[in-house]
Amino acid sequence: MSQIAHVIVDVPTMQTNQAYSYAVPENLQNIVAIGGRVIVPFGHRKVQGFIIELSDEILMDTSLKTIESVMDPEPVLTEELVQLGRQMATDTYSFLISCYLTMLPASLRAHYKKWIIPTTHDLKQLPEIFNEYGRISWEQVEQQHLEQQILKLKENQYVRFEYEVTDSITKKTADYFELIMDAHQLKQEQKKLTKRAFRQQQLLEILLKKEKGEQLSVNDLRDQEGISRHVIEAAVAKGWGIIETVEVLRDPYQHKKIEPSSPLNLNNEQKKAYDRIIKAMDKNCADTFLLEGVTGSGKTEIYLQAIAQALDAGKGALMLVPEIALTPQMAYRFKSRFGDQIAVMHSALSEGEKYDEWRRIKTGKARVVVGARSSVFAPLKNIGLIVMDEEHEGTYKQEEHPRYHTRDVALWRAAYHHCPVILGSATPSLESRARASKGVFKHLLLTKRATNMPLPKVEIVDMREEMKEGNFTIFSRALAQQLNRTLANNEQAVLFLNRRGYANFVMCRDCGDMMQCPNCDISLTHHLHDNKLKCHYCGFEMPLPTQCPHCGGHHIGYFGTGTQKVEQQLQQFLPHAKILRMDVDTTRKKGAHDDLLEKFGNHEADILLGTQMIAKGLDFPNVTFVGVLNADTALGIPDFRSAEKTFQLLMQVSGRAGRGKIPGSVVIQTYNPDHYAIQLAKEQNYEQFYLHEMHFRHLGHYSPYYFMAKIEVSHKEEAVTAKKAQELAEYLRKQLSQQSIILGPSPRSIARVNNLYYFQVIIKYKAEPKLKEALLHILESSQKEYAKGLRVMIDNHPLNFM
Ligand code: ADP
Ligand code: ZN
Repeated sequence: MSQIAHVIVDVPTMQTNQAYSYAVPENLQNIVAIGGRVIVPFGHRKVQGFIIELSDEILMDTSLKTIESVMDPEPVLTEELVQLGRQMATDTYSFLISCYLTMLPASLRAHYKKWIIPTTHDLKQLPEIFNEYGRISWEQVEQQHLEQQILKLKENQYVRFEYEVTDSITKKTADYFELIMDAHQLKQEQKKLTKRAFRQQQLLEILLKKEKGEQLSVNDLRDQEGISRHVIEAAVAKGWGIIETVEVLRDPYQHKKIEPSSPLNLNNEQKKAYDRIIKAMDKNCADTFLLEGVTGSGKTEIYLQAIAQALDAGKGALMLVPEIALTPQMAYRFKSRFGDQIAVMHSALSEGEKYDEWRRIKTGKARVVVGARSSVFAPLKNIGLIVMDEEHEGTYKQEEHPRYHTRDVALWRAAYHHCPVILGSATPSLESRARASKGVFKHLLLTKRATNMPLPKVEIVDMREEMKEGNFTIFSRALAQQLNRTLANNEQAVLFLNRRGYANFVMCRDCGDMMQCPNCDISLTHHLHDNKLKCHYCGFEMPLPTQCPHCGGHHIGYFGTGTQKVEQQLQQFLPHAKILRMDVDTTRKKGAHDDLLEKFGNHEADILLGTQMIAKGLDFPNVTFVGVLNADTALGIPDFRSAEKTFQLLMQVSGRAGRGKIPGSVVIQTYNPDHYAIQLAKEQNYEQFYLHEMHFRHLGHYSPYYFMAKIEVSHKEEAVTAKKAQELAEYLRKQLSQQSIILGPSPRSIARVNNLYYFQVIIKYKAEPKLKEALLHILESSQKEYAKGLRVMIDNHPLNFM
């Protein structure tokens, strides 16, 4: 019998979900484990792989290759995650290897390096560069354009290639002085010291107060006692102690002071919801609760208390948020309740810091994980509760391979751990709300704000009327009046500029030519601070032309209004107001989000002006007014969810007003005042919106009545792309039943990005038993044309159709 390992290999150019078998050499037999990373030979090179299965077999095939080495002392993936990866790969039509890599911190991803090593002693046969380095890397070969020469040398066996696989883990370490003498021995040493050895004396005094075996930080000795490393090394030479290097975990939050907080008394609605969740937890029941509660109804307080229960039961908890960088207040609330038990998987952490947080979770030091999408894979071993806040948010869906939805992964893990899931939102996705209606999810409702304050009063302003009345500014009279009132009362305001589907584009007023990206079918966006035109898809940029490249005209005009321009106009309009602007430009630097919000929280500004970024989770009691400058830019997006997105966003932004002791008000400016998404946002009537929208989805055969899958083909030639898309559509029409609706192929709404053409095929289906097989077939066979630059992407339950 031999031990055989089944390994998923990491070969980017030829992916497959097939595991390869390798023999386990004797010296590795007790070290290999399921979920562990190994280095294996593959073709003529070495690659990283994950063991997904181990078996004992009688070895028939003696040509079986052998595992070369094991990369980690203990497996990086738990057996649960190995199993989850398999489910994910079939559900999202992805390759297993990308599922596993997605689950791990980036620093564990393999880096491949190719070395060229001389096999001859006669260095004169080789290029100069070998004299200097002995062996060289393939990058060096490329830099010096030696490719042809090296290949020739290899053919003549003057050099050989060696492949190295590494990861980029960096461990932070610290040195400790460990005392190995007892007090008696130290006293003897003291007698031997001369008077002049002042620092040695000082160190001895300190050591005499310590026990044998105690460890003292070398850095602390230096910083606090002024004892240099030199003195410590001398002590080591005398045999007083030894220096030990210990791995330390970086704590990205150590500079922030956190005030501890304690649980609040839940109100009746909160208590009812909480009790049902706890009951499910006690019974190890994997129920999914849809916690629908208006903004400020105290959902977060329920999460905090339910998680505390999970901890009391000796279990861990997962707390998922849409974007952690945008919700520093949320992270703070969890830190202040749970202290060191928490790991925050913040997107702004460095790779090393992320790896350390991951290690703290893996080793059980942190039992509550707060983080965005990828935190759903946190290696917690015993989960008692999973919470997904703002469950309707689009960021929960990964828009690249593997295209998974966090909600699906959360439900899978909950079933595995027999624990409940809370999906929280003021405006649940239609899919989740529909499941709650059917009883698949348990519906919990919070109807009023926890602080007993009323929801803000919302006013809709028709911007067409404003123009008719002669107001051509971007601020309606109602908005202006409210801003003035807010500032006069020394309260604060939030102004929201909707950027979704909104471009800040530039047009020639003589010929009507739009300034377009040369690589993409999309208009360029004007950036005020460096006066450049930029493409947000491929990164192309150019200076703003003074003359139209098309007709030579000199009347270049702007359309749309960026945050910078709004800021200028706002400042002119309210010269004494202090304004903070929050958008991609002002938040690029690490920590900039937190700083801006902290300033606003300290009332260092009167108005916070921003984009989507300011819609989420902000809880500032002094904000009494929220203005939405342009409610409807997103309504025009060719996506059946555009009304839902608009409604959710307006509800969310409005929810920032009146969270403290003073009631809030909201002004929404729009060109579509009669649209139901806008009218129902004014009424803050989710239930009515849900019913109305469901009716429309039913008529249009959309989700949640139908499931959808999207297949996207791309290639640099339009004809090749169209042909392949056509071929796939025909294949699907043959394979699938009559009940399924297949749309397309058709060019994507942004048909060309970065010089690649995109075509889509959309499948709408209810129950389609053949779908899985057909799509998995398309996935595996797509690899054959991958090298020719033809890409096929499958997105099951897509959120994005652009
Ligand atoms: P949500 O998550 O639904 O927006 P939060 O949990 O943030 O609501 O609560 C909104 C505000 O109400 C917060 O300032 C919170 O401290 C407060 N709050 C929540 N629950 C209670 C309660 N039971 N009693 C008093 N205040 C509460
Ligand atoms: Zn472009």
